[in-house]
Amino acid sequence: MAQVRCPFCHEYIDSRDFPAHRAEHVKDRGDGQQNEYATLPPEEREEGDLIDVPRVYVHQKCGVMTGMPEEIIRSYLKNPYLYSADETFCCGCGKHVPFRECHWTETGEDLQTYTDKLRAAKPEMKPSGCLGLVLVGVGLAGAVAAALV
Ligand SMILES: [Zn+2]
Ligand SMILES: [Zn+2]
Repeated sequence: MAQVRCPFCHEYIDSRDFPAHRAEHVKDRGDGQQNEYATLPPEEREEGDLIDVPRVYVHQKCGVMTGMPEEIIRSYLKNPYLYSADETFCCGCGKHVPFRECHWTETGEDLQTYTDKLRAAKPEMKPSGCLGLVLVGVGLAGAVAAALV
């Protein structure tokens, strides 16, 4: 039986069972976010400290800040093509919004420009054909404390 490695929990799943398995991971939690988001397996993620890496972004339309989860940052630093939807969750709007409408609080750069630069630096990671998996927008763990706003 062929197996695939689940991009959410990184377990090996029989390919026949994978569609149902994946559906559980991407179920809406009830607040517009998915249960879980795809990441790279822990051993494949970017290592080292994230001191200079932006982590909190503001959605221009609503002005609410959202924090990017570390496991997602470490995944897209390694493979900037992973989240090809170019959308991210906004805690203010309760839905996924375009990268272009968000900017990092740390650098002021919009997320689309940031991602494009990461991709340009790693052209060898560019997917050449069908990935076989639909990769979704970046998910977010939760709003940054209201005190920051
Ligand atoms: Zn899984
Ligand atoms: Zn918003």
